[in-house]
Amino acid sequence: MPYINNETQRNFELYYNHRFLNRIRWAQIAAILLVVLFAILDVLSLPSHVWHQTLMIRFFIILPVFVLVWRASFIEALHQRLQWVITAAAVIAGLAIVGILWVARREQTPLPYEGIILVTIFFYFLVGLRYRGAMVCGWLTCVAYIVMEAQAGLSGEQLLYNSMFLISANVIGSVGCYFLDSATRQGFLAEQALRNLAERDPLTGLFNRRAFDERAERSLRQAVRERSPIAVAMIDIDFFKAYNDHYGHAEGDEALSQVGEVIRRNVQRPLDLAARYGGEEFIVLWYGLSEADALVMLETIRRDVEELGIAHARSDVADVITLSAGVVGFVPDGVEDLRQSLRSADQALYQSKQSGRNRVQGADTEASGFAR
Ligand code: GH3
Ligand code: MG
Ligand code: MG
Repeated sequence: MPYINNETQRNFELYYNHRFLNRIRWAQIAAILLVVLFAILDVLSLPSHVWHQTLMIRFFIILPVFVLVWRASFIEALHQRLQWVITAAAVIAGLAIVGILWVARREQTPLPYEGIILVTIFFYFLVGLRYRGAMVCGWLTCVAYIVMEAQAGLSGEQLLYNSMFLISANVIGSVGCYFLDSATRQGFLAEQALRNLAERDPLTGLFNRRAFDERAERSLRQAVRERSPIAVAMIDIDFFKAYNDHYGHAEGDEALSQVGEVIRRNVQRPLDLAARYGGEEFIVLWYGLSEADALVMLETIRRDVEELGIAHARSDVADVITLSAGVVGFVPDGVEDLRQSLRSADQALYQSKQSGRNRVQGADTEASGFAR
């Protein structure tokens, strides 16, 4: 299996749970129905003092456990933890079923042990568990069953046969489930790689323009709902054409990537966005920042880029690479405000260039008609 880091691992878990959410829900419903059917079978085929006990286990342990998992699958906050929930539920259900077999054996009315094999297959292939969780449930149930039968005094030969069948079912389940899991993971990684390719600028790793536009709309919609301020900034490297002409395109690319890294460091919160908007132009959206706060952040970026100390012999404002930036802060009324904010930030950037470069500039929102 390819190596993946912790964050990717978490994302995969979420992806898996979302992808199989329907299957997880239907599996619980199927399990609930089966519990009821087997309960009916118990009543029809077992003496009443036995089914009184087995029904208690079916209705007061197994059934609630599956109902709880079904319910949990609708709680968004639990989706990250859904594997744990299902694993815990399946372990309880597995042990409870061993309990049913034990009750029946103790009462001299043994139930067919094949039920445990069915349950094992259910754990591995239907309940929506990844292979680790499925293995925990499958093997624990297997061991519990063997211990139970040994305790209950099943003959050695019969115990050997039953154990062999159950162990084989677990081996088949473990291997099959591992390969399924691995295929799903590869699909996920391929999908993620494609998404990165489509959304990221390869040179800086920041979002590209299209991804910015899409995500900015999302952030704006949320800001409208929460009446939160938003700040949008345009950033442009000073005399970059001259830099390229003097040092060459490859050096230019390297400088761009370093500037991109500085920007990325200063745009970190989940709803913030940083993108390469074109050539040597960057755009930033800070969620929840006023224009004054954003000016402070921008000034940090400006200073950090200056402090990179990338020599620029052809700049008129410094002997290192510098940038100019313009920013506008506003509380959006609707997503349409995005376009206007880009215009205002661009005007502020223009002013910043006009008044000497290597500086940051707030939008003159009254003059641009953007203030309300
Ligand atoms: P100003 O201070 O007014 O912004 O001047 P400028 O030279 O930076 O602005 P201009 O828009 O005239 O030039 C932008 C230059 O950025 C043009 C091009 O050489 C360079 N550039 C754009 N995209 C890339 C790129 O992907 N890699 C490199 N190395 N250079 C790029
Ligand atoms: Mg420039
Ligand atoms: Mg430019």
